[in-house]
Amino acid sequence: LEKQIITSEKFSAIGKLAAGLAHEIRNPLTSVMGFIYLLRERAKTESESGYLDLIYSELETMKQLVSDFVMMAKPGSPDRKDVVIEDLLRDTVRFMESQAKLSSSTITDYILTEETPMRIDPIQIKQVLINLIQNALEAMPDGGEVKIESRLANPNSYQITISDEGIGMTDDEMREVMNPFFTTKEAGLGLGLSTCYRIIENHKGKLSFTSQKGRGTKFTIDLPR
Ligand code: ADP
Ligand code: MG
Repeated sequence: LEKQIITSEKFSAIGKLAAGLAHEIRNPLTSVMGFIYLLRERAKTESESGYLDLIYSELETMKQLVSDFVMMAKPGSPDRKDVVIEDLLRDTVRFMESQAKLSSSTITDYILTEETPMRIDPIQIKQVLINLIQNALEAMPDGGEVKIESRLANPNSYQITISDEGIGMTDDEMREVMNPFFTTKEAGLGLGLSTCYRIIENHKGKLSFTSQKGRGTKFTIDLPR
């Protein structure tokens, strides 16, 4: 209980800071990324395009950090819209494919369900998927496969799983990973999973995972229909 209270105080302090800063950081960042993209298209040598890819991916990381902060700052309640969830899933997979290529990974979609209408906040759910795929890619620094699967677990529950064949987690890590600011990464903020957890909780769903050190990790999202 004590831990919970400290956590929510942290959230509100960060929230105020994030609201002010995020906007100011994101706009110039987006424009810089646009110009890097243009330069990338005109690059004349392999090393030139390599450097520009690196710059782009580092900027994307920065943008992700800002997004994480904004998400923490937002009041929880989802802005629900009618969405065909398979479209959202495929969009997100496509969006993350360039990121995957940078570490010689692939994202395979086993989205076998058809045209399932859901009332969810598409921006928030996309954010969850991006965070989980990002973590999966980061868990496989030498490349590998991220699998995205979907199924109707029962008529009332839509299930999405994201699995990787990466470094996995120890039991100690598994106990900690949902806490804000827990990270094992040098440049990590540790806000991704706690944000995902909050978003899915606000959708009255469930976020769970299994992991084996050295083998891989599988996250499961259950969304009520
Ligand atoms: P960050 O990615 O900034 O570290 P997250 O909240 O997204 O923060 O993740 C917290 C920690 O959970 C990570 O630092 C890592 O130790 C662990 N983790 C999350 N996803 C995975 C995964 N797919 N495989 C292995 N470890 C993971
Ligand atoms: Mg993360």
